[in-house]
Amino acid sequence: MNINATLINILQICQRELWLHANNITMEHTSDLVTEGKQIGEESYPQRAERNQEVAISAEINGIACNAKIDFYDAKSGVVHEIKKSSAKEMAHVSQVQFYLYLLRKNGIEANYGIIEYPKLRQTEKVELHEDDIQKIERWVKKVDEIINQEMCPPSLPKSKCRNCSYFDFCHTVEE
Ligand code: SF4
Repeated sequence: MNINATLINILQICQRELWLHANNITMEHTSDLVTEGKQIGEESYPQRAERNQEVAISAEINGIACNAKIDFYDAKSGVVHEIKKSSAKEMAHVSQVQFYLYLLRKNGIEANYGIIEYPKLRQTEKVELHEDDIQKIERWVKKVDEIINQEMCPPSLPKSKCRNCSYFDFCHTVEE
């Protein structure tokens, strides 16, 4: 399985969620959220398609196949835009955009920085990619590869860390 930005994002949140997602165990709620996020992006930034393009990109990172579909890439300025429906900023969002920037650069495509836009918060966050971030991304890719290929599902996090997770009932009803 190729490592993509969604898996990099989920790694920052929960290893169990990563394994479940990668092994195609999904909850209906998850797809609803994806649809809602897409709608927020389209409704909040209707002008976006005019200056940005969708980019599908792939590269090997330390021998592991990786790919990404970047929804909004401004080739003129070398800027990646990512829209999040979340009402809170998260490190996982930054990780996802750094992964995009790294894949673009590995393909020789200009990638100066990223901008995460939070329509609900009416805020943006600038994301940069430095040398030490590259080593970090390479470690994430290796870690994701290890986790999704392990036979057993990693243990659940404590309930207090599972707020808003679509697997909540699955993890905390099945196991108890
Ligand atoms: S409910 Fe908690 S343990 Fe289960 S996948 Fe979600 S975050 Fe991880």
